[in-house]
Amino acid sequence: MARSARSDALRKRHRARFAKTKPACHLCGRPIDYDLRWPDPMCFVVDHIVAIANGGSDDFANKAASHATCNAAKKDKQYESLVKRSGTLE
Ligand SMILES: [Zn+2]
Repeated sequence: MARSARSDALRKRHRARFAKTKPACHLCGRPIDYDLRWPDPMCFVVDHIVAIANGGSDDFANKAASHATCNAAKKDKQYESLVKRSGTLE
């Protein structure tokens, strides 16, 4: 969980930009309920179009809105296991 204050501020700024325009999920094309909160599988998460691990940038241009569940299915295994673990807590 080592996140610099700078990238955290950037992340919040980008999330706020999505929350304002409320775009549909770029992975499944369905609308996102921006009132839902983590760990709801249909809540809003920011997806990197080109993963940081694959050389993608952290710019707004490389980000898109998606459902948590769509983002997890995409291939981010760490994220997926997080969703599964939190699901067992309910
Ligand atoms: Zn979706």
